[in-house]
Amino acid sequence: MNENTARTQVVVIGGGYAGVMAANRMTRRAGLAVTLINPRPAFVERIRLHQLVGGNHAAVVDFREVLSDAVRLVVDTVDRIDAPRRTLTLASGDTVAYDHLVYAVGSGSADPGVPGAAEHAYPIAALEEAERLRPVLEEAPAEAPVTVVGAGPTGIETASELAEQGRRVTLVCGGVLGPYLHPRGRRSVAGRLAELGVTVVEGDGAKVTAVTRDAVELADGRRLPSAVTVWTVGFGVPDLAARSGLTTDALGRLLTDETLTSVDDDRIVAAGDSAAPSGMPLRMSCQAAGPLGALAADTVLSRLDGMAPETVGFGFAGQCLSLGRRYGLFQVAAKDDTPKSYYLGGAPAAKLKEFICRATVKQLADEARKPGAYREHKKSKSEGKRRRQELARRAERTGAALPETENQTRNRTEAPAAARS
Ligand SMILES: Cc1cc2nc3c(=O)[nH]c(=O)nc-3n(C[C@H](O)[C@H](O)[C@H](O)COP(=O)(O)OP(=O)(O)OC[C@H]3O[C@@H](n4cnc5c(N)ncnc54)[C@H](O)[C@@H]3O)c2cc1C
Repeated sequence: MNENTARTQVVVIGGGYAGVMAANRMTRRAGLAVTLINPRPAFVERIRLHQLVGGNHAAVVDFREVLSDAVRLVVDTVDRIDAPRRTLTLASGDTVAYDHLVYAVGSGSADPGVPGAAEHAYPIAALEEAERLRPVLEEAPAEAPVTVVGAGPTGIETASELAEQGRRVTLVCGGVLGPYLHPRGRRSVAGRLAELGVTVVEGDGAKVTAVTRDAVELADGRRLPSAVTVWTVGFGVPDLAARSGLTTDALGRLLTDETLTSVDDDRIVAAGDSAAPSGMPLRMSCQAAGPLGALAADTVLSRLDGMAPETVGFGFAGQCLSLGRRYGLFQVAAKDDTPKSYYLGGAPAAKLKEFICRATVKQLADEARKPGAYREHKKSKSEGKRRRQELARRAERTGAALPETENQTRNRTEAPAAARS
């Protein structure tokens, strides 16, 4: 028996913000062999993919910079999880056995569901998609009309990036500009987009009904000429969990309890965009992925130590947008992710955004060098309390039994009367 097979095998599926954080963090425990499976040999800074499209950043970091030397990297794609047998089948045909599994496959572009979009529009939620769009833009004449569909953060950032380079950009909102933003923050973004020359098309009539080779058609009958159409409408998640017979939410995120443990199998935990703790997932974001990755690792380690794992307590700070390279907006939010009326704008917000992008990579590198150093996921106990209150309200409303945390299970076993009151 070699050293690897003698040790407890922990496998992480997905080398994004959540998976790398989890893998690095688990190396702090002796006796664990940690393997990370990812389709690419490099780490993708997804939060810079609009910059890749704009041609000012590669959005890729060498895994050697962010992944601990103690983690074995397998460049492959997991095709199926066999939970009863605790094995994974990879696209290459190899199989990998595990004792504990971290499911961190992230997200990608949602199915557009609009005629012509799959053929003629360019999504940018994954590295390969952004790389496919870049040369198309380079070849398009400078004055060619570019349409960005979707006015969430990715759409706003992409439209700004391209307009700053002198492109003729139309941003089709399909509703309101920046739905997450407070009206004051939204006004600031609209002001900057106007300065950049972006035409913003808002309102219900601005829903895209079809995309053709050279135009975008709207619900109200308008037809906008478009030489290049960029599609940024929402994220979907890989169907690996559902395909493997594990319980997911409606979108396909692995359904877990508040310790991020699968409701089907306590050897499987989930983190990042592909996790749905108690069916109340956090906003898909890099902001949540790191903390969830750290919590998923802590859950595995607690379980190995025979301790009760902690529960989700992470709270959001807000949403930070780049509006080109020189301007930005930091929309401040309450810990429950409700936007507040104040924001930071202009050049200071652009600097803050760049700082955040660097900090997310640095946090992974720090955790690789010093596993256990990361503390962000422990900072907001009030969010944990809010989630528990919301879960209790939901259970009361629907009468549904919700996934329990281990603490709840213990309380129920030890003090049923107190748990009922
Ligand atoms: C243009 C853009 C800008 C963004 N800006 C921000 C921002 O400013 N702030 C913010 O908070 N969020 C932002 N986001 C969202 C953020 O990037 C994601 O929420 C974040 O990457 C989620 O992290 P993750 O680790 O869950 O997944 P990911 O980063 O998506 O990583 C998942 C990894 O798993 C791999 N994988 C998938 N399936 C398999 C499989 N079957 N086998 C093996 N590996 C698999 C994927 O290839 C990928 O490498 C942005 C996204 C985009 C596209």
